[in-house]
Amino acid sequence: MLTLTLDIGGTKIAAGLVDETGALAHTVIRPTPKGAGAEEVWSWVQQIIVDAVRAASGGIHGVGIGSAGPVDLATGTVSPINIGCWRGFALRERVAAVVPGVPVVLAGDGVCMALGEHWRGAGRGAGFLLGMVVSTGVGGGLVLDGVPYHGRTGNAGHVGHVIVELDGQLCSCGGHGCVETVAAGPRMTRWALANGWAGPPGADALMLAEAAGAGDAVALRAFRRGAGALAAMIASVAAVCDLDRVVLGGGVAKSGRTLFDPLREALAGYAGLDFIRGVQVVPAALGGDAGLIGAAALVSPAR
Ligand SMILES: [Zn+2]
Repeated sequence: MLTLTLDIGGTKIAAGLVDETGALAHTVIRPTPKGAGAEEVWSWVQQIIVDAVRAASGGIHGVGIGSAGPVDLATGTVSPINIGCWRGFALRERVAAVVPGVPVVLAGDGVCMALGEHWRGAGRGAGFLLGMVVSTGVGGGLVLDGVPYHGRTGNAGHVGHVIVELDGQLCSCGGHGCVETVAAGPRMTRWALANGWAGPPGADALMLAEAAGAGDAVALRAFRRGAGALAAMIASVAAVCDLDRVVLGGGVAKSGRTLFDPLREALAGYAGLDFIRGVQVVPAALGGDAGLIGAAALVSPAR
């Protein structure tokens, strides 16, 4: 039997069918409609669900949903920062009406990414794992003592909003100085351009990483700055949660050693206590599939 999984984000909406081994089939990825109303976005999601159910000829035994946050697990509603028309949107109820008679489980997308990497990816064997994504934002989720940790409302693991600068810049969350304001791809690129990097108009983090790889001094400083902020956050979360591993994915992490080398170096400086120093930071293995695979583990928690 297959589990239908959904990954709802501000950039893309994806669906998949996952078997009991965690193998993913029938992946559908569509851009999230821009400027659309709540019902228009929902009809888009509904069509993706209907197509996936049709593709699962042997039937499905449950639905796992990972959604960009904030989410509210008590009510089954979502209010993704980057899907402005959904505020308190009753996603779990809507999905259950389309796929009746099976369990429908909702969680934050960061938890699903962490669960996917824990089950099938670079987090295998870790007892206390932070899964995180660094791309246009910084997201994350926790698997603690082998099980997903959702927190009071379902939003635990929002590590992008750990504060790393007391007088830092305004963040999309409404706060100031969050790690996302320093280490997200567009923020690193903006900092580099403001500090003398001769990147082209519309330059993105990929171009910045290429420049850093080619030895551009400003691009290297931008990566060191972003990596330092991530290291400060990781040391803080490791101190709170006693982690053994951090799995790092997303577009910025694809720059490889350009990010990981300065990150590990900075982490060594922040991690004073032995239990923090022992945390491993490794690249994610599943790419964009982690959320879809992890959402299946929500439905069969024994995994
Ligand atoms: Zn923030």
